[in-house]
Amino acid sequence: MGNVSVNGEVITIESTQVHENNTVLLNGVKLITRAFRYLLMHKPVDTVCSNVDQAYPSLFTLLEIENKSELHIAGRLDADTTGLVLITDDGRWSFNITLPEMQCSKVYRVGLSRDIQEDVALKFEQGVQLQGETGLTLPAKLDTISPREVLLTITEGKYHQVKRMFAKVGNRVVKLHREKIGQISLDVEVGQWRYLTDAEIALFR
Ligand code: URA
Repeated sequence: MGNVSVNGEVITIESTQVHENNTVLLNGVKLITRAFRYLLMHKPVDTVCSNVDQAYPSLFTLLEIENKSELHIAGRLDADTTGLVLITDDGRWSFNITLPEMQCSKVYRVGLSRDIQEDVALKFEQGVQLQGETGLTLPAKLDTISPREVLLTITEGKYHQVKRMFAKVGNRVVKLHREKIGQISLDVEVGQWRYLTDAEIALFR
């Protein structure tokens, strides 16, 4: 077994992550570290955010790049949800997007089956109790576009969170689309993708 060091520190844990600017030595010989990849995609309806096809095809079938199995999605969407997904092979970076403590905002455009009631914005701001969860949802912001179309900004990503929040206040989500994650907005057509810019990557470092 060789001796591996990262930035001068000997590493014994196999799963240690390294960044491209780290100096990695194997028995004193410098190794080239491969750069992480960061991209965004406009998820179409009826695709799944896992690496394998399920009831619907995997979103990754739309990505024509090498070694796709190394990539994962930072904050999955349901099969019937469309919009912005961020894809990477940098686990530390995706934690900064998905961990509630990081307070990374996600903006959803929501179509509703019934007119939105006036008190819902306050309820969401104060937090609601979802079944099976220990605490209230974190403060969320509701902007009404029309009686049956709203923008909801949340900073966490519990399972089916948006649908469950509206169910809790007696409404039903009939259309769900993610427009924005932090300062990154969706700017490609449905089914298309692009690499993130250095400035966008730096937002979650
Ligand atoms: N909340 C949901 O209910 N579904 C999603 O796909 C994303 C957020």
